[in-house]
Amino acid sequence: MIVNSKKMLEKAKVGKYAVAQFNINNLEWTRYILEKCNSLEVDVILGVSEGAIKYMGGFDVVVSLVKSLVKDLEITIDVCIHLDHGSSVDVCKKAIDAGFSSVMIDASKMELDKNIETTKEVVEYAHSRDITVEAEVGHINGNSASSSSREFNATLEECEAIVKGTGIDSLAPALGSVHGLYKGEPDLDFYTMKEISEKLDLPIVLHGGSGIGEADIKKAISCGICKININTELQTAWHDEVVEFINNNPTVYDPRKIIASGRDAIYDMIEYKINLFYNK
Ligand code: 13P
Repeated sequence: MIVNSKKMLEKAKVGKYAVAQFNINNLEWTRYILEKCNSLEVDVILGVSEGAIKYMGGFDVVVSLVKSLVKDLEITIDVCIHLDHGSSVDVCKKAIDAGFSSVMIDASKMELDKNIETTKEVVEYAHSRDITVEAEVGHINGNSASSSSREFNATLEECEAIVKGTGIDSLAPALGSVHGLYKGEPDLDFYTMKEISEKLDLPIVLHGGSGIGEADIKKAISCGICKININTELQTAWHDEVVEFINNNPTVYDPRKIIASGRDAIYDMIEYKINLFYNK
Protein backbone atom coordinates (compact mmCIF):
# COMPACT_ATOMS: atom_id res chain seq x y z
CA MET A 1 0.00 0.00 0.00
CA ILE A 2 1.19 3.53 -0.71
CA VAL A 3 1.35 5.48 2.56
CA ASN A 4 2.88 8.67 3.91
CA SER A 5 5.88 8.34 6.20
CA LYS A 6 4.18 9.24 9.49
CA LYS A 7 3.43 5.85 11.02
CA MET A 8 6.63 4.24 9.68
CA LEU A 9 8.81 6.87 11.31
CA GLU A 10 6.87 7.03 14.57
CA LYS A 11 7.15 3.24 14.90
CA ALA A 12 10.88 3.46 14.21
CA LYS A 13 11.35 6.16 16.86
CA VAL A 14 9.61 4.02 19.47
CA GLY A 15 11.28 0.79 18.31
CA LYS A 16 14.75 2.41 18.10
CA TYR A 17 15.54 1.35 14.55
CA ALA A 18 15.80 3.23 11.25
CA VAL A 19 13.53 2.92 8.24
CA ALA A 20 15.50 2.81 4.98
CA GLN A 21 15.05 5.38 2.26
CA PHE A 22 16.47 3.89 -0.91
CA ASN A 23 16.60 6.27 -3.86
CA ILE A 24 15.26 5.08 -7.20
CA ASN A 25 16.57 5.78 -10.69
CA ASN A 26 14.55 3.69 -13.10
CA LEU A 27 12.14 0.78 -13.40
CA GLU A 28 14.68 -1.90 -12.47
CA TRP A 29 15.90 -0.04 -9.40
CA THR A 30 12.36 0.42 -8.16
CA ARG A 31 11.50 -3.20 -8.83
CA TYR A 32 14.57 -4.61 -7.06
CA ILE A 33 14.02 -2.42 -3.99
CA LEU A 34 10.34 -3.34 -3.74
CA GLU A 35 11.01 -7.06 -4.24
CA LYS A 36 13.80 -7.21 -1.68
CA CYS A 37 12.07 -5.13 1.01
CA ASN A 38 8.89 -7.13 0.48
CA SER A 39 10.75 -10.40 0.95
CA LEU A 40 12.38 -8.99 4.10
CA GLU A 41 8.96 -7.73 5.27
CA VAL A 42 10.12 -4.20 6.01
CA ASP A 43 8.39 -0.98 4.96
CA VAL A 44 10.33 1.24 2.62
CA ILE A 45 10.62 4.85 1.58
CA LEU A 46 11.44 5.30 -2.10
CA GLY A 47 13.40 8.55 -2.42
CA VAL A 48 13.08 10.32 -5.77
CA SER A 49 15.31 13.29 -6.55
CA GLU A 50 14.30 15.94 -9.05
CA GLY A 51 17.07 14.66 -11.32
CA ALA A 52 15.66 11.12 -11.18
CA ILE A 53 12.14 12.46 -11.83
CA LYS A 54 13.40 14.27 -14.95
CA TYR A 55 15.33 11.18 -16.03
CA MET A 56 12.28 8.93 -15.70
CA GLY A 57 10.01 11.33 -17.58
CA GLY A 58 8.13 13.26 -14.89
CA PHE A 59 6.17 13.12 -11.64
CA ASP A 60 3.29 11.12 -13.14
CA VAL A 61 5.62 8.48 -14.55
CA VAL A 62 7.19 7.94 -11.14
CA VAL A 63 3.87 7.59 -9.35
CA SER A 64 2.39 5.28 -12.04
CA LEU A 65 5.55 3.17 -12.07
CA VAL A 66 5.60 2.65 -8.32
CA LYS A 67 1.87 2.00 -8.06
CA SER A 68 1.92 -0.44 -10.99
CA LEU A 69 4.87 -2.37 -9.59
CA VAL A 70 3.22 -2.57 -6.17
CA LYS A 71 0.11 -3.99 -7.81
CA ASP A 72 1.65 -6.32 -10.40
CA LEU A 73 4.33 -7.70 -8.06
CA GLU A 74 1.77 -8.08 -5.25
CA ILE A 75 3.85 -6.05 -2.82
CA THR A 76 2.29 -6.19 0.65
CA ILE A 77 4.61 -3.91 2.66
CA ASP A 78 3.90 -0.20 3.10
CA VAL A 79 5.63 1.96 0.50
CA CYS A 80 6.17 5.70 0.72
CA ILE A 81 6.87 7.71 -2.46
CA HIS A 82 9.02 10.57 -1.22
CA LEU A 83 10.34 13.62 -3.06
CA ASP A 84 14.01 13.93 -2.08
CA HIS A 85 15.38 17.50 -1.76
CA GLY A 86 12.46 19.36 -3.33
CA SER A 87 14.00 22.67 -4.36
CA SER A 88 10.89 24.88 -4.21
CA VAL A 89 7.31 25.11 -3.00
CA ASP A 90 6.19 24.67 -6.59
CA VAL A 91 8.13 21.41 -7.08
CA CYS A 92 6.70 20.03 -3.82
CA LYS A 93 3.17 20.93 -4.88
CA LYS A 94 3.68 19.25 -8.26
CA ALA A 95 4.89 16.06 -6.56
CA ILE A 96 1.92 16.09 -4.18
CA ASP A 97 -0.57 16.72 -6.99
CA ALA A 98 0.91 13.79 -8.93
CA GLY A 99 0.47 11.40 -5.99
CA PHE A 100 3.74 11.45 -4.02
CA SER A 101 2.87 10.52 -0.44
CA SER A 102 5.68 12.50 1.18
CA VAL A 103 7.94 15.42 0.27
CA MET A 104 11.16 16.97 1.46
CA ILE A 105 11.43 20.71 1.04
CA ASP A 106 15.09 21.62 1.02
CA ALA A 107 15.27 25.34 1.70
CA SER A 108 18.44 24.84 3.74
CA LYS A 109 20.51 27.24 1.64
CA MET A 110 18.18 30.08 2.64
CA GLU A 111 18.42 32.12 5.81
CA LEU A 112 16.59 30.35 8.66
CA ASP A 113 13.58 32.75 8.58
CA LYS A 114 13.10 32.18 4.89
CA ASN A 115 13.63 28.41 5.28
CA ILE A 116 10.87 28.39 7.91
CA GLU A 117 8.52 30.51 5.77
CA THR A 118 9.06 28.29 2.70
CA THR A 119 8.76 25.04 4.64
CA LYS A 120 5.57 26.26 6.33
CA GLU A 121 3.96 26.92 2.96
CA VAL A 122 4.72 23.33 1.91
CA VAL A 123 3.42 21.95 5.22
CA GLU A 124 0.10 23.78 4.85
CA TYR A 125 -0.41 22.43 1.34
CA ALA A 126 0.79 18.92 2.22
CA HIS A 127 -1.02 18.39 5.52
CA SER A 128 -4.40 19.35 4.09
CA ARG A 129 -3.84 16.39 1.72
CA ASP A 130 -2.43 13.94 4.33
CA ILE A 131 1.09 14.16 2.90
CA THR A 132 4.11 14.21 5.21
CA VAL A 133 6.90 16.80 5.05
CA GLU A 134 10.62 16.58 5.83
CA ALA A 135 12.78 19.71 6.08
CA GLU A 136 16.51 20.38 6.36
CA VAL A 137 18.50 22.75 8.54
CA GLY A 138 22.21 23.39 8.37
CA HIS A 139 23.46 22.21 5.01
CA ILE A 140 24.32 18.68 3.94
CA ASN A 141 27.13 18.92 1.42
CA GLY A 142 26.72 17.07 -1.74
CA ASN A 143 29.09 15.87 -4.35
CA SER A 144 31.50 13.05 -4.79
CA ALA A 145 34.48 15.23 -3.97
CA SER A 146 33.13 16.54 -0.69
CA SER A 147 34.47 15.65 2.69
CA SER A 148 32.78 15.62 6.04
CA SER A 149 32.69 19.08 7.56
CA ARG A 150 31.09 20.64 10.64
CA GLU A 151 31.05 24.09 9.09
CA PHE A 152 27.44 23.80 7.91
CA ASN A 153 26.06 21.75 10.79
CA ALA A 154 22.66 22.46 12.31
CA THR A 155 22.29 23.74 15.86
CA LEU A 156 19.64 22.72 18.39
CA GLU A 157 18.21 26.27 18.34
CA GLU A 158 17.75 26.19 14.56
CA CYS A 159 16.08 22.78 14.79
CA GLU A 160 13.73 23.98 17.53
CA ALA A 161 12.83 27.05 15.48
CA ILE A 162 11.97 25.13 12.31
CA VAL A 163 9.99 22.43 14.12
CA LYS A 164 7.96 24.97 16.11
CA GLY A 165 7.55 27.36 13.20
CA THR A 166 6.35 24.85 10.61
CA GLY A 167 4.77 21.68 12.04
CA ILE A 168 6.98 19.39 9.89
CA ASP A 169 6.76 15.61 10.34
CA SER A 170 10.50 14.85 10.25
CA LEU A 171 13.73 16.80 10.22
CA ALA A 172 17.07 16.29 8.51
CA PRO A 173 19.62 18.26 10.51
CA ALA A 174 23.00 18.53 8.80
CA LEU A 175 25.41 16.95 11.28
CA GLY A 176 28.50 16.15 9.22
CA SER A 177 27.24 13.59 6.73
CA VAL A 178 27.64 14.19 2.98
CA HIS A 179 25.97 12.91 -0.16
CA GLY A 180 28.07 10.85 -2.55
CA LEU A 181 31.43 9.29 -1.73
CA TYR A 182 33.21 10.40 1.45
CA LYS A 183 36.66 11.84 1.10
CA GLY A 184 38.22 10.70 4.37
CA GLU A 185 36.22 9.47 7.35
CA PRO A 186 32.71 10.73 8.20
CA ASP A 187 32.74 13.04 11.23
CA LEU A 188 29.22 12.99 12.64
CA ASP A 189 28.16 15.25 15.50
CA PHE A 190 26.51 12.61 17.71
CA TYR A 191 26.22 14.96 20.65
CA THR A 192 23.92 17.38 18.81
CA MET A 193 22.11 14.46 17.15
CA LYS A 194 21.14 13.06 20.56
CA GLU A 195 20.28 16.50 21.92
CA ILE A 196 17.95 17.24 18.98
CA SER A 197 16.30 13.84 19.17
CA GLU A 198 15.70 14.11 22.92
CA LYS A 199 14.49 17.71 22.99
CA LEU A 200 12.31 17.62 19.87
CA ASP A 201 9.47 15.18 19.69
CA LEU A 202 9.80 14.19 16.05
CA PRO A 203 11.72 11.66 13.95
CA ILE A 204 15.13 12.78 12.75
CA VAL A 205 16.69 11.68 9.51
CA LEU A 206 20.24 10.93 8.37
CA HIS A 207 21.04 11.93 4.81
CA GLY A 208 24.26 10.77 3.17
CA GLY A 209 23.98 7.31 4.73
CA SER A 210 26.29 5.63 2.20
CA GLY A 211 29.86 5.14 3.34
CA ILE A 212 29.12 5.49 7.06
CA GLY A 213 30.55 2.48 8.93
CA GLU A 214 28.50 0.01 10.98
CA ALA A 215 29.56 1.44 14.35
CA ASP A 216 28.59 4.99 13.40
CA ILE A 217 25.25 3.84 11.94
CA LYS A 218 24.46 2.01 15.18
CA LYS A 219 25.49 5.03 17.21
CA ALA A 220 23.34 7.33 15.05
CA ILE A 221 20.32 5.07 15.60
CA SER A 222 20.99 5.03 19.34
CA CYS A 223 21.12 8.85 19.19
CA GLY A 224 17.60 8.92 17.71
CA ILE A 225 17.97 8.63 13.92
CA CYS A 226 14.75 7.01 12.56
CA LYS A 227 15.41 7.07 8.81
CA ILE A 228 18.61 6.66 6.81
CA ASN A 229 18.96 7.63 3.15
CA ILE A 230 20.94 5.39 0.82
CA ASN A 231 21.58 6.20 -2.81
CA THR A 232 25.30 6.01 -3.65
CA GLU A 233 25.99 2.56 -2.22
CA LEU A 234 23.26 0.94 -4.31
CA GLN A 235 24.74 2.64 -7.35
CA THR A 236 28.33 1.58 -6.68
CA ALA A 237 27.29 -2.01 -5.83
CA TRP A 238 25.31 -2.23 -9.10
CA HIS A 239 28.06 -0.56 -11.13
CA ASP A 240 30.81 -2.94 -9.96
CA GLU A 241 28.76 -5.99 -10.99
CA VAL A 242 27.75 -4.53 -14.34
CA VAL A 243 31.33 -3.58 -15.23
CA GLU A 244 32.43 -7.14 -14.45
CA PHE A 245 29.57 -8.59 -16.49
CA ILE A 246 30.37 -6.43 -19.51
CA ASN A 247 34.08 -7.26 -19.29
CA ASN A 248 33.27 -10.99 -19.13
CA ASN A 249 30.52 -10.83 -21.77
CA PRO A 250 31.58 -8.21 -24.30
CA THR A 251 29.24 -9.52 -27.01
CA VAL A 252 26.04 -9.40 -24.92
CA TYR A 253 24.03 -6.40 -26.06
CA ASP A 254 20.57 -7.14 -24.60
CA PRO A 255 19.99 -4.25 -22.14
CA ARG A 256 17.83 -6.48 -19.95
CA LYS A 257 20.77 -8.82 -19.37
CA ILE A 258 23.23 -6.00 -18.81
CA ILE A 259 21.07 -4.05 -16.34
CA ALA A 260 19.91 -7.20 -14.53
CA SER A 261 23.51 -8.35 -14.02
CA GLY A 262 23.63 -5.84 -11.15
CA ARG A 263 20.38 -7.02 -9.56
CA ASP A 264 21.87 -9.39 -6.97
CA ALA A 265 24.35 -6.73 -5.86
CA ILE A 266 21.41 -4.40 -5.17
CA TYR A 267 19.52 -7.16 -3.35
CA ASP A 268 22.58 -7.95 -1.19
CA MET A 269 23.24 -4.32 -0.33
CA ILE A 270 19.61 -3.80 0.67
CA GLU A 271 19.66 -6.87 2.92
CA TYR A 272 22.90 -5.74 4.53
CA LYS A 273 21.52 -2.24 5.21
CA ILE A 274 18.19 -3.51 6.53
CA ASN A 275 19.89 -5.89 8.97
CA LEU A 276 22.04 -3.00 10.17
CA PHE A 277 19.23 -0.43 10.40
CA TYR A 278 16.88 -2.84 12.22
CA ASN A 279 19.58 -4.12 14.61
CA LYS A 280 19.05 -7.67 13.31
P1 13P B 1 24.18 8.88 -0.22
O1 13P B 1 24.76 9.63 -1.40
O2 13P B 1 25.14 8.84 0.91
O3 13P B 1 23.68 7.56 -0.59
O4 13P B 1 22.98 9.77 0.32
C1 13P B 1 21.70 9.68 -0.20
C2 13P B 1 20.83 10.75 0.31
O5 13P B 1 21.01 11.26 1.41
C3 13P B 1 19.70 11.15 -0.53
O6 13P B 1 19.02 12.25 0.00
